[in-house]
Amino acid sequence: MKETMIEVKNVNKSFGNLHVLKDCSIEVAKSEVVVLIGASGSGKSTLLRCLNFLEIIDGGTITISGKKIDPKKENVNHIREQVGMVFQHFNLFPHMTVLENIIEAPIHVKKVNKKQAIEHARQLLIKVGLLDKENAYPDQLSGGQKQRVAIARALAMKPDIMLFDEPTSALDPELVGEVLSVMKDLAMEGMTMVVVTHEMGFAREMADRVVVMHNGNIIEEGPPDQIFQQPSHERTQRFLSKVL
Ligand code: ADP
Ligand code: MG
Repeated sequence: MKETMIEVKNVNKSFGNLHVLKDCSIEVAKSEVVVLIGASGSGKSTLLRCLNFLEIIDGGTITISGKKIDPKKENVNHIREQVGMVFQHFNLFPHMTVLENIIEAPIHVKKVNKKQAIEHARQLLIKVGLLDKENAYPDQLSGGQKQRVAIARALAMKPDIMLFDEPTSALDPELVGEVLSVMKDLAMEGMTMVVVTHEMGFAREMADRVVVMHNGNIIEEGPPDQIFQQPSHERTQRFLSKVL
């Protein structure tokens, strides 16, 4: 058995009267790539945000790398060092260069010395193919380049787990491939990943498991072939007929 990196057990989350996550449970093993799909509003982003403690769950448990997390007791920043997140809208700091964006958290949160942080940032820029852009500002970059910087910035904290929330949804179609290719490299290096995406090609090729959400519930999960070819839930079929 592979080491379990994420264990979500009976997690519930409401916003006011809106019950957004209903008894959700999933496990993610080390180096596993899990793709989370489902209609808009089904709770995918909320689930990812709970995994990164950007939202605090109302009930259930979240265990990261064998450690049950109680955000009331734990230093949440410390957990976030382990769990990197990439958002649809990049969220780069606009007044900082690419390099400054990447070294910010390692220096200020992790207290890495600046020289080392810069050295690591350059390695990451090589990895995402943007070493020549280290002095550019975000508004001088294409959407695909911005997202690759956002990935490098998340990786700069040396996370054990990476969460992606529709990382290519805001991109022009011709820029989607360059971001997916960086994600594929990461997956092949053994990164543990949870990816919300409508890119079913990526799911088919890279996912070890596809998890389907509907209306706050996890309605089914399985290997991509099974989910795409023989979905057991009518809601899954309906969703797939729209995106495939
Ligand atoms: P998805 O990512 O699958 O589209 P979300 O997790 O973003 O779904 O949203 C699930 C539901 O929770 C939606 O009805 C959304 O409007 C609601 N929601 C999400 N975040 C908040 C929030 N901060 N406050 C109130 N409602 C929210
Ligand atoms: Mg979402």
